[in-house]
Amino acid sequence: MIVQDRIVFLRSELQQHNYNYYVLDKPTISDFEFDMLLNELIDLEKQNPQFYDANSPTQRVGGELIKSFDTVAHEYRMLSLGNTYSAEELVDFDKRITKLVETDIEYVCELKYDGVSISLKYENGELKQAITRGNGTHGDDVTVNVKTINSIPLKLKGDYPSKFEIRGEIFLPHEGFEQMNEKRIVNDLEPFANPRNAASGSVKMQDSKEVAKRPLDCFLYYLLGKELPSQRHYENLQNAREWGFKIPHEIEVCPSIDKVIDYVNYWDNKRHHLPYDIDGIVIKVNDLRLQEQMGFTAKSPRWAISYKFKAEQVSTVLNEITYQVGRTGAITPVANLEPVLLAGTVVKRASLHNADQISKLDIRVGDKVYVEKGGEIIPKIVGIALKERDLFSQPTVYISHCPECNTPLVRSEGDAKHYCPNDLMCPPQIKGKFEHFISKKAMDIDGIGPETIDLLFENQLIASIPDLYDLKKEYLLPFKKEGEKWASNIIEGLEQSKAIPFERLLFALGVRYVGETVSKVLVKEFQHVDHLMMADKERLENVDEIGEKIAESVVLYFQNKENIKLINRLKNQGLCFEIGEESKAISSQLLGMSIVISGVFSNFSRDELKKLIEQHGGKNVSSISKKTTFVVAGENMGPSKLQKAEKLNVPLLSEDEFIKKIS
Ligand code: AMP
Ligand code: ZN
Repeated sequence: MIVQDRIVFLRSELQQHNYNYYVLDKPTISDFEFDMLLNELIDLEKQNPQFYDANSPTQRVGGELIKSFDTVAHEYRMLSLGNTYSAEELVDFDKRITKLVETDIEYVCELKYDGVSISLKYENGELKQAITRGNGTHGDDVTVNVKTINSIPLKLKGDYPSKFEIRGEIFLPHEGFEQMNEKRIVNDLEPFANPRNAASGSVKMQDSKEVAKRPLDCFLYYLLGKELPSQRHYENLQNAREWGFKIPHEIEVCPSIDKVIDYVNYWDNKRHHLPYDIDGIVIKVNDLRLQEQMGFTAKSPRWAISYKFKAEQVSTVLNEITYQVGRTGAITPVANLEPVLLAGTVVKRASLHNADQISKLDIRVGDKVYVEKGGEIIPKIVGIALKERDLFSQPTVYISHCPECNTPLVRSEGDAKHYCPNDLMCPPQIKGKFEHFISKKAMDIDGIGPETIDLLFENQLIASIPDLYDLKKEYLLPFKKEGEKWASNIIEGLEQSKAIPFERLLFALGVRYVGETVSKVLVKEFQHVDHLMMADKERLENVDEIGEKIAESVVLYFQNKENIKLINRLKNQGLCFEIGEESKAISSQLLGMSIVISGVFSNFSRDELKKLIEQHGGKNVSSISKKTTFVVAGENMGPSKLQKAEKLNVPLLSEDEFIKKIS
């Protein structure tokens, strides 16, 4: 069976490359080559559904939508850890447990990762289940979401026990966290407060495809089971590394509590250079037999403890409060501080979040303030030395006008932030619009990035989107030494973008609440921008999936004469404001029907069939349920799908029968 061999080969290749990239951080092939292999496997699996494997590398992209997670019982409880805050407390801990077992104790020190804990069950080398901590005895089954985390192996290598559990922490590294927040801001979503919140929110999302897009990572730190390779915690983890798990290298065996304290002090200092957050150190007894002898209290193991770092605090003076205008018009007050050294870096600024925060703190210019940096990246103002406040100090008055364009600010009910409503003329908001317009999912313009936008904007070459398409190479050349190539790339990228389909262009225009999906729905329904422009709120709300908020926003957008001018200019410049031929509806014969395609076909590809379904008003769905109208069944339809269709009485149509139905 050649196909099957190829599938098996691709799976093991991809698994290895995935491991090289995400666990070892040493890729041996390019992203492009990886994608080629992955796409080949996706195609082969689609064409040969009988070889389905729940732990194939293709499953990492997610797909399933989950209404609510199943609650499952933990086989071994997931407890919390006792806390210590000083060297004295660590010495007490050592004395206490040494007395308990009457022997010297060897410790293992690990970093305490600040994310969400997860318990992974493996059987015969395959990931079976991933459960959150929950209340310690029961957690949520989040397997589908966890499978999308690339550093978690779906299949193991080497000499692993047939059944075991491994625990660890899912977290977001700083870099991924920051990128994710930038994207959220561009898309009008509230940014996450810190990487921990972002990680725990991600693990519980209902759409695993969304989880797959989040740059989550996972370190593992504890093995459980009846047939572990060693009687020592440290050795067990080293073994688990051989099976493919991401075991942190910072782990260290410490023969005495003094060495533990050295480790703690070392990391208290060095933690600020790590690419992720930790909030302390975890100290564990290395010998599993001693662990067992010591047992548990009601809340935590006696053989482990955590050391929590003190958030470092310094005092300094608040020199000025300035106000930043974000890409969406949101105003953020910023404390400008007398520079101080804090946790290894010089701190000059801290966020004050919003007006409420300022009045809650009653913070005033000239105050002596306390600044803290805990696990989090951005320093916080945690208090004010009120006794030292100047007699003549004045309460802070929040600004009423935009510092960038002087428009009166608005604040809607239930919103903590003030906004500048002048989205068409306010400089940072215009820049934000440009950045969204050129971004990958929108117009995907090669050659232009945020820096180019800044440059063109500051030099007044662009003020609104259509100005981009009026750019000429001669205008650009003076801005860069030997800028010939740079300039041609920009012009060429713009030229090519004119062919981008209407649905992406509509998304690119950045109408509030019109994301990728909504944009597709609107284009399918209205087909031409002129029709969309004329639709009133009621007409819009009649469209499937379009609610009041979206309808209002679309109407508001087209009511603005400036936007109409902008669209007319873009039209004249040759951009596409009409649905493409191939997406146009042909009939409504399949309206309201949910159709599943399964197997291999002789006259059409699966994509062609899917397109036909859409063109005739039907909806493609991926799995069979009670709501499925019929299945278009090709050859080699998967046995489980066949069974399900029979069980639910869902009719099967052959390729020919289907074509007859729509012709
Ligand atoms: P706490 O929630 O403060 O009681 O601490 C217990 C939690 O610390 C566990 O549930 C884990 O999520 C987390 N943790 C982070 N790093 C480690 C580690 N190296 N060993 C054990 N637990 C850890
Ligand atoms: Zn403004």
